[in-house]
Parts: sequence; structure tokens; C-alpha cells
Amino acid sequence: MGFRELNVDLSAEHIALRDAATKFLAEVWRPASIALDKLPDPNDVIAEGSILWDVLRRTWQLGYHKMPLPKELGGLELDILSLSLISEEMGFAAPDLAVSLAVCTTPFAYAQLSPDQEIRDLTKRFCEDTEAKMTGCWAITEPDHGSDWILFDGEQAPEAKIVPQVKAVPDGDYYVINGQKSSWVSNGTFATHAALWVCLDPSKGMAAGGIAVVPLKLPGVSRGKPLNKIGQRALNQGEIFFDNVRIPKTMMVAQDHAIFKFLSNAQLALANGFMGLCFSGTARAALDESIKYARSRVQGGKLISKHQSVKLKLFDMFVSVEAARSLARRVAVYNGQLLKHLQSPAVHYAMASKILSTETAFRVSSQGVQIHGGYGLCKDHYIEKIFRDARAAMIEDGTNEVLALGGADRLLNG
Ligand SMILES: Cc1cc2nc3c(=O)[nH]c(=O)nc-3n(C[C@H](O)[C@H](O)[C@H](O)COP(=O)(O)OP(=O)(O)OC[C@H]3O[C@@H](n4cnc5c(N)ncnc54)[C@H](O)[C@@H]3O)c2cc1C
Repeated sequence: MGFRELNVDLSAEHIALRDAATKFLAEVWRPASIALDKLPDPNDVIAEGSILWDVLRRTWQLGYHKMPLPKELGGLELDILSLSLISEEMGFAAPDLAVSLAVCTTPFAYAQLSPDQEIRDLTKRFCEDTEAKMTGCWAITEPDHGSDWILFDGEQAPEAKIVPQVKAVPDGDYYVINGQKSSWVSNGTFATHAALWVCLDPSKGMAAGGIAVVPLKLPGVSRGKPLNKIGQRALNQGEIFFDNVRIPKTMMVAQDHAIFKFLSNAQLALANGFMGLCFSGTARAALDESIKYARSRVQGGKLISKHQSVKLKLFDMFVSVEAARSLARRVAVYNGQLLKHLQSPAVHYAMASKILSTETAFRVSSQGVQIHGGYGLCKDHYIEKIFRDARAAMIEDGTNEVLALGGADRLLNG
């Protein structure tokens, strides 16, 4: 295979981490993701005895759930380049499971911002967990506010009169939460904790946002049914309902507008940056599958890899994959450094990376289907799954159009 590692500054540790991840993900994640994808009923993905739980347990045992968390709390505190390499490999092996793992960490990272030691200890307990008993989700999207939440900041910001559906009202030392998050919340039907985006003052609409770390076993929390969708089927998604859920005020880790704005932008930069890395890996998987197929399929009396039209397609795919991979890695490292020093990330770069990688994954996997001919449409060939998974990614974490609008504002306004 002619793929090279173009980062010449990788240490022996980086290479060892990446290679160990590649092996584990190929042996454990890829086959599980394929098996889960084939289940016709999404309830079976999270049923007792599902292979998903075994995969999560093995993933937790190796510590992949705590990769970015601080060492003093039991995390691995991997440097951003290591995180980038592993995220690419996760997207290569199974993007659906990669997204599930990425959102799992979210509430446990925010727990650190609480003034209450008991809530801060959630991070430690999450790091100590080796059974995947603690899992998380990022609950922002609502049935009537998808893109509105993505565009809450910037010129395209929704008007103040647009009021989010999940509201938190103060009541003494507590907040009382009511409302519903949409069926798109990843890990929504099983996560034990949520990083929950709420509206703190309906008179100010989207501008009065808050972020709470909410244990989802509290009275008044209920879940919807797992969503049935065309791609990323191993990724569980579902609604979360809040009916007079009381949380201590210390669980509302962002109440002040400036903090909410900083954290929301940081979250978007991290999420989009991760999507860029992950789906550059998925695009590479599409190319990898296509090269393997082109080297084995004979038509016109020779391997199809010897036909000029197939060669041109493969090299065009390669150009796109390497461009997406390069941008994704540079953006992740750049924003990672800014966030480490508590500086605002360059959100529009993360948006660019997410858009480029997901559109590359979709285009390259479509070319891959073409190279596979009729077999590319069959479930027996992995390229068919990659194509569906990549399609979902162009909507995930903000539609690419809405991200481009938000990115353009940031570009124009510095
Ligand atoms: C696989 C997957 C995983 C996801 N995971 C999560 C998760 O973990 N947590 C979570 O909370 N959410 C999650 N989401 C939700 C995702 O962020 C939303 O689907 C996305 O923000 C779009 O919102 P929507 O689906 O409501 O579409 P809408 O906002 O209704 O958009 C519909 C169409 O209108 C366009 N549009 C909307 N508003 C504007 C505007 N102002 N200007 C121009 N065009 C506009 C959009 O581009 C789109 O084409 C996930 C989605 C997917 C597909």
C-alpha cells in the first residue's frame, strides 16, 4: 500500500499508540460495527447481550474513554497529535462507534467546572470505570431547534424570540428542567449522564443559554425509542425528556453568558475538529476498500486496477483523502493548543475541516461504490456501509450548509 505517514515529527510513542489502536479497532470495532449495522431493529443494538456492550467494556478497559482527561483525575491526558491519530483510526475502523465514544466523554469533562466536589468527582469515577457503566451524551439538538443551536452565536444568530425547548428555571438552590431533546442525541437512549444545553431565560431566547451536567437517572427523566436511520446504525440515538427534573444549581456548570459562549464555541470546535479527523479516516477506508477490490476484480481480461479509468478515479480519491487528512490534523493541533491555554479556538477552521472531511468521505465512498460496480450496492461489501455512514456525517454536528454560513461570518468578521 502506497499510503505514507506525512507527519515527520511523530515520536516512537505516537507510533506505538497509533499502531496499538489500529490493531484493536480492526479486530474489535470494525467487525462489531458491521454486525450492529446489519440489525434491522435499532432496539437490538442496545439490547441486553448486544455485542455493543462487550465492545464498550473492552474499549473502557484499554482506557480509550479517558484519553483527553487529566492525569491527576485518572485520565490519560494524551497530547493532541496522539488524539488526532487515534481519532483518524477510529473513523477508519468504524465511524459510528467513534462518534459514540467521542460524545461519551463530554459530560465528564464539563463536570470539572462545578464548584461541588461531588460533581467534580464524576470525572474521576468515569476514569476509574472499566466496565463502561458510566456513559455520556451531548444533548443540544431539540425537535424544533437543530440548526438554530449551531448558529446561536454570530451574525446568523437566531432572533431573541426563538426560545429553546429545554428550559431550566431557578428554584432556591435548584434548577427545575422541563422540555425535550431531539431523537438525534447520540447515545441518547442509554447514556448515564448528559451535557445538557438549556435556556435559562426565555425572554432572551437563544442568547440565555446554560450548560448542565445531568445524571439521567434523576426522577422526571425519560427516553425515547432508538432512532432507525440509513447510516451510522451502530450509533444509538434517541430523545431525552425532562419533566420537572430538579438539579442542584452546582450542576449548571455554565450560567454566565460569556462562559456559555466560550464553552459552546469550544464544544463546536472540538466536535467539528473531531468529525474532520474521524471522517478523513472514513474517506481513507473507502479508498483502501476500493484499492483492494480493484486489485482483485478482473474484467476485460485484466485486473480493473489496470484500466486507466479506474486508476484515475483511485488517484483522484487519494488526492482528496490526503487533503482532508492534512487539514483535519493541522486544525485539531492548532485548536487543541489554543484550548489548552484557555484561548478561543478558531471555530471556522474546525468547520472547514468537518465540511471537507465529510464531503470527501461521501464523494470518495461514492466513487468507491462505482469502482465496485454492482457489488458496491450490496451489504456484503464494506464500501456500501461507508457510503451510508458518510452521508449521515454531512448532517451530523451541524449540516454542512449551516456550518459554512457560521464559518463565513467568522471569516468575514475576523
Ligand atoms: C448521525 C448524527 C449524530 C448526531 N449527534 C447529535 C448529538 O450527539 N447531540 C445532539 O444534540 N445532536 C446530534 N445530532 C443532530 C445534528 O446536530 C442536527 O441534525 C443538525 O444540527 C441539523 O439539525 P436538524 O436535523 O434539526 O435540521 P434543520 O435545522 O431543521 O435543517 C433542515 C435544513 O434547513 C437548512 N437550514 C436550517 N436552518 C438554516 C439557516 N438558518 N440558514 C440556512 N439554512 C438553514 C439546513 O442546512 C438543512 O438543510 C446528530 C445528527 C446526526 C445526523
